[in-house]
Amino acid sequence: MKSVISARDIEELLRTGSDPRSLPPDAILTPSARDLLRDLEFHGAANHRDSSPPPPSAPAAPAAPVTARSSQGDLEAFFNSPAIQALKDQVCDIGRRLWQRAYVDGNGGNIAVRVSEDVVLCTPTLVSKGFMKPEDLCLVDLQGNQLLGSKKRTSEILMHLQMMQRQPKDLASVHCHPPYATAFAVAGIEPPTCMIPEYEVFCAVALAPYRTPGSPEMGKLVADLVENYNTILMANHGVVTWSHNHVEEAYWRMEIIEAYCRTLTVAAQLGKPLNTFSPDQLKDLLKIKQGLGFVDPRYGLKECELCDNDQWRPGVQCAVPAEKTPATEADPDAEALVQKVTDLIMENLHIQRVDAP
Ligand SMILES: [Zn+2]
Repeated sequence: MKSVISARDIEELLRTGSDPRSLPPDAILTPSARDLLRDLEFHGAANHRDSSPPPPSAPAAPAAPVTARSSQGDLEAFFNSPAIQALKDQVCDIGRRLWQRAYVDGNGGNIAVRVSEDVVLCTPTLVSKGFMKPEDLCLVDLQGNQLLGSKKRTSEILMHLQMMQRQPKDLASVHCHPPYATAFAVAGIEPPTCMIPEYEVFCAVALAPYRTPGSPEMGKLVADLVENYNTILMANHGVVTWSHNHVEEAYWRMEIIEAYCRTLTVAAQLGKPLNTFSPDQLKDLLKIKQGLGFVDPRYGLKECELCDNDQWRPGVQCAVPAEKTPATEADPDAEALVQKVTDLIMENLHIQRVDAP
């Protein structure tokens, strides 16, 4: 039977010292696995270009496990090991894709990957993610102290590290400023739900308030959300995503949230109310999501609590039916007050909608 080989499988082979060239000839490679093999010059096609034999250094030796307290020599051997070199290539490739998709601007955006218990590989400061080289990457400990790398680590690493400390499953995170998702963050709107399945399965989105980028306060506000959310919109700033599988998946989340926000922005201009799928259809998607091990705060919610889009114009309300409690007698004064408040809210809502462009 043919097997599907992902970049993660290749990384695992490298980590365990196996030779990726020993893959069965009928193995189906995912695009990222193909890229990784090409980078490693293990792929047959790369060697077909000339008749030279495969590189003598293969197979890659596994990287010896290190901690932040390992000796300088051990850390350097780890930092220059084939497995970490392959990861550096992958991070640079993701940086290029972030830049090509205009998700980063100037030297903005950063990527962090946990490579051992308390050691993290990350991108440098003041380098465009579109033109980053493997030798630009840095190694830091969980407090952000730089262990290795000729360039200074990103100032926003503190946020990534706070996320990793709070969410032990967080293996890799990507931060950038994709325009459509950032526009939602600037407007303070959490994107509505129940519109596109892929978004529901891959992303669990929350909005963190604004603080100065790179400050411990910003990191804390994001870290407060990572138990239940993997895609955080940072008000007036950008987006950060994380994955428990691999850095590629954290990057995919970025593509998915950005495509989603762009689609909604276009759909909202078509002059028709937007359709949603039903709460029980969302429940099916959440089952798939839970099976994939992705976090989401909506597991176990009642159907009527799902698909609550009240932050999004024109607003889809999901009222939870009040349970009748026979012991409680209706209080006419309280009911009149509730009615008055409801009328006031409705009046305000009406004014907002009339004023909205
Ligand atoms: Zn930023």
